[in-house]
Amino acid sequence: MVKLAELQKFLVDKAIIFPTAEMYGSFAGFFDYGPLGVEIKRAVKQEWWNRFVSRREVVGMDGCIITHPKVWEASGHIQAFQDPLVECKKCKMRFRADQLVETKLKMNVEGLVLKDLGRIMREHDIDCQKCGGELIDPRYFNLMFSTEVGAVQGNTAYLRPETAQVMFVDFPRIFKSSRGKLPFGIAQIGRSFRNEISPRNFVFRGREFEQMEIEYFFNKNSKPTETLPKMEVTVWTRSAQEKKEPHKKTKISELLKLTSEWHVYWIAHSMKFLVDLGLRLENLRLRQHTKDELSHYAKDTWDIDYNYPFGWKEMVGISNRADFDLKQHSKFSGNDLSVLDGDERVYPFVMEPSFGVDRLVMALLIDAWHRDDERQTLKLNPKIAPVQVAVFPLVNKESMPEKSMEVFNQLSNEFRAFYDDKGSIGRRYRRQDSIGTPFCITIDGQTLEDDTITLRHRDSMNQERVKIGKLSQKLSESF
Ligand code: ATP
Repeated sequence: MVKLAELQKFLVDKAIIFPTAEMYGSFAGFFDYGPLGVEIKRAVKQEWWNRFVSRREVVGMDGCIITHPKVWEASGHIQAFQDPLVECKKCKMRFRADQLVETKLKMNVEGLVLKDLGRIMREHDIDCQKCGGELIDPRYFNLMFSTEVGAVQGNTAYLRPETAQVMFVDFPRIFKSSRGKLPFGIAQIGRSFRNEISPRNFVFRGREFEQMEIEYFFNKNSKPTETLPKMEVTVWTRSAQEKKEPHKKTKISELLKLTSEWHVYWIAHSMKFLVDLGLRLENLRLRQHTKDELSHYAKDTWDIDYNYPFGWKEMVGISNRADFDLKQHSKFSGNDLSVLDGDERVYPFVMEPSFGVDRLVMALLIDAWHRDDERQTLKLNPKIAPVQVAVFPLVNKESMPEKSMEVFNQLSNEFRAFYDDKGSIGRRYRRQDSIGTPFCITIDGQTLEDDTITLRHRDSMNQERVKIGKLSQKLSESF
């Protein structure tokens, strides 16, 4: 199992992902992506967009980070987007009360009210993790970052804590101008901000992060017509959690006994996307929310958990938000957001698959990172590798650099290509292995005679000779 500290060191050393403003002592919960990290992240987002947006009845949008504050009143965020906070009376350090209890007592406290959390903390003498001082009783802390808009003071607005709400308030305009027919989805990729009490576990819990979300609107009496992808998955149902039973393997179609057809449809397609992207199925688990932990808007929620070095944790949340949001915005704005579905006027129900980009990128890196005495390899799916093909001249003479440049220029039109002429060939291969480059191409003496190159494969380390004219097609077949 990968250790978080080791992975973190690797990512920071390679400038893939690192804390922001390190020279000022960094800033908890904020991270920057360097040249390789940004390519991985962009590729992941592109794959998601290609899979869910371009080929389905789902359209994209790009909404504001700061929107009208009424939106957050209607959504319930101003009243209910909060976590339980405790503060040390001595050193003033702040902690999330539920996380403290979970870590200390290894018990699930999702959904417990403040009074009960406080009681458990007192019964078990849970003190400050930093100085051992006494903690105040838990109180709620709203996670939205606020700011002031315009020159007049007191005009409070919020940085969005999720991308979802803008899709609800823009639904009428986009629905009318696009398909105008249910089912219909709106998708968005963008930054969200949460003033997390204890940001931790690297980018897993940041204060600024990215989400890829779909709001999928449907008539609650309709059903998907597509057949489900066939998969066997690890599932931890609500009832198994309540009975303290472990998770177990189940056919995805079995979930139809536990939740609605549209929910199973989005669970199955989300799981399939993750596996196709390169995540190992055995590191994924579906967990149904217990009744106590369901958010105020949710009829049912299933998380896709990943087995991180610090345990099974949520990477994707798939919620049935019913007609909560459209009804709330109708009420608060005075505009009726119901639509016609055939002859019937309905408030569509909404299924929301919500992917955290940073948590997904982190999981992909964990699954891909392999080390042995010989080498360190990032076995990323070629589609998301930051460099897809590296081109080397064997030596820097006899027209090899010129020929290599020619090949590099040709390939860089289609792939993320990199040119390297420094160090021994062995070292150049190892450098590329460590950043996940699936293919390396070497131009040598024979190339100048017969126009063939050596193509070296990252995972098997096999080498083969390929005609330059066939290269592009050969590589494309692997993506
Ligand atoms: P958690 O219980 O871990 O705080 P959540 O249930 O509040 O997460 P959602 O509101 O369902 O998370 O957000 C959808 C997705 O956004 C999550 O599945 C996760 O991938 C991502 N996400 C949420 N909060 C953060 C964060 N602080 N840092 C990074 N990603 C996050």
